[in-house]
Amino acid sequence: MSEDFYDVLGVSRDASTEEIKQAYRKKATEYHPDVSDDPDAEEKFKKIQKAKQVLTDEEKREAYDRMGHERYEQAEKHGFDASEGGAGGMGGDPFGGMGGGGMGGGGLGDLFEQVFGGGGGRGRRRPRKGRDLRTELEIDLEEAYDGAEKQFTLERPEECEVCNGEGHPPDADARTCPECQGQGQVTQVQQTPLGRVQQTTTCRRCEGEGTLYSETCGECRGEGYVRNEATLTVDVPAGIQDGQTLRMEREGAPSPEGGPSGDLLIDVSIREHDEFERDGDDLRYRLPISFPQAVFGDTVEVPTFDGAAEFDVPEGTQSGETFRLEGKGMPRLRGRGHGDLYVQVQVVTPESLNEEQREALEAFAEAGGDEIEVNEGFFEKIKRAF
Ligand SMILES: [Zn+2]
Ligand SMILES: [Zn+2]
Repeated sequence: MSEDFYDVLGVSRDASTEEIKQAYRKKATEYHPDVSDDPDAEEKFKKIQKAKQVLTDEEKREAYDRMGHERYEQAEKHGFDASEGGAGGMGGDPFGGMGGGGMGGGGLGDLFEQVFGGGGGRGRRRPRKGRDLRTELEIDLEEAYDGAEKQFTLERPEECEVCNGEGHPPDADARTCPECQGQGQVTQVQQTPLGRVQQTTTCRRCEGEGTLYSETCGECRGEGYVRNEATLTVDVPAGIQDGQTLRMEREGAPSPEGGPSGDLLIDVSIREHDEFERDGDDLRYRLPISFPQAVFGDTVEVPTFDGAAEFDVPEGTQSGETFRLEGKGMPRLRGRGHGDLYVQVQVVTPESLNEEQREALEAFAEAGGDEIEVNEGFFEKIKRAF
């Protein structure tokens, strides 16, 4: 088999694109390695595929005609820019270096799949994964402490049951997409200031499937999926932080090509707690104590998510002083142990005193040598005014 693309396909140099495609189909079927007895079928098949790819693309064909086989091959390997300089003697198998270049791409498996796309059996192209979806979940700090199984609902696209996600009735007639010749992809070569750049994109006409169908599914209007409300349960791990994202694999949008579904990403936010403030794996708590407790010290109970903890307020504690209760904070995510609980003591000044308390405090002040100009309460002032 000659290397020349026209010879490979057995067409004349002025063959129309349609003639080239016809010749390609015939040859591709003949040399498909699954079918052919030819020991070199695989290699020949690649050449056929390649020849068709170049000759059915107007710009590539123009470049090929202009440059000739060897220079074109070389240019493709080393970039079109460098090529225009001069041709070297490029012998041997033009596909020897496959895998690196842009145009060849993929392995042999991909090539089979492209040509025999949609034909059933081992035919289909490797289907794309479905889209990832995103949702939000709000939990309480307690739930972040213990970990929780949270149930939630989510509206998401799910595979259409009428057509099994195919988007067309099973008995619809299939034909190869004329836009991409069944490859599902379109390669364009563009002239840019930096040289020729080729870009391969998914075919818009067939959305990458390579096949067009005579009918679309009425249920999903050909989308292959419908919107449904799904109820899901997610395992929220103990110690999760506000703003972290959980991933539920395969719970996202279904693949439009029958491949695996995408994932569902769950952005977790944690509601503010009435008593605890979280700081990483630590918790902060404000503990109100009385003036005598601050003076004499006391054993008090501090709430934790793990039940009440006893805490010794030392003698002579100042308002605002902070004490650390080791291991009473949040559990560490994926780690052992817990953070700490910081207890900030707040000495509460009494807002009203009974007679006895007032006298005791006045005596206390006097004993300390403090002259206190006792401020009368508002109502007492008013009383005196009458
Ligand atoms: Zn197409
Ligand atoms: Zn459907």
